[in-house]
Amino acid sequence: MKLSREQLLAEMGITPIWRARTEGPAVSDQPVAATDVSEAGDPQASATVEPPPVAKSLPGPAVAVDSMDWAELAGAVSGCRKCALCEQRRQAVLGVGDHDPDWLFIGEGPGAEEDARGEPFVGQAGKLLDAMLAAIGLRRGEKVYIANAVKCRPPGNRTPEAGEMAACRPYLERQVALLRPKVIVLLGKAAVHSLLHEDKSLAALRGQRFEWHGIPVVVTYHPAYLLRNLPDKAKAWEDLLFARRCLREAAMREAPLLI
Ligand code: URA
Ligand code: SF4
Repeated sequence: MKLSREQLLAEMGITPIWRARTEGPAVSDQPVAATDVSEAGDPQASATVEPPPVAKSLPGPAVAVDSMDWAELAGAVSGCRKCALCEQRRQAVLGVGDHDPDWLFIGEGPGAEEDARGEPFVGQAGKLLDAMLAAIGLRRGEKVYIANAVKCRPPGNRTPEAGEMAACRPYLERQVALLRPKVIVLLGKAAVHSLLHEDKSLAALRGQRFEWHGIPVVVTYHPAYLLRNLPDKAKAWEDLLFARRCLREAAMREAPLLI
């Protein structure tokens, strides 16, 4: 069944249709404290204090992470014991999608369904992410790659700790370097912390064009947060339109003679 754009937007709960802004969304239209809560996972679980990640004294991989190819990266991640999240995972979830993508979406970490199926964003939040992708004419796997800040499921879907994200960051950075997407969309605070080392509220970061090694980076709300805060879906839509503008600008800069 093919849905019209209006139906897709209705699926996302963001009708009536709003206008695209010519500039990025305003950055300071929200009280900062309102978004200081976790944008994903179980808010109660995220309030509990977890012990720091356990450093394991296992031999490191033969190849440095920053020069791994895809097969080496997948092998290293599936056997990784660099942080305590390895203890309770069923499997590490590296990512899914096109290895030559225009778009890279980065979430927080696998939840229960992702841990069971080995693919990111296949639960409720994933359904909303798919609807968001469809609303801008994208499909999982077609010029789109989806990854997470941490590759192993935090117990109880709590927010990953800073130490866990730091332990996993080299894998994420290698992934981004191998993918070389045209735009990166960070879904929620964990992804922002991991890639941009930035801990401001999302409201303060939306609508800005960041860069990671020359690749434009845009920040938006995590789909799990949007499921609990439906009115903010309209802002996520604005963010995706802004990301698409960044992508087009980047593409024009790369191929000015073709235009
Ligand atoms: N939330 C995330 O951040 N990532 C997933 O893969 C699923 C839910
Ligand atoms: Fe390794 Fe990342 Fe899993 Fe921690 S979350 S065990 S660093 S793959």
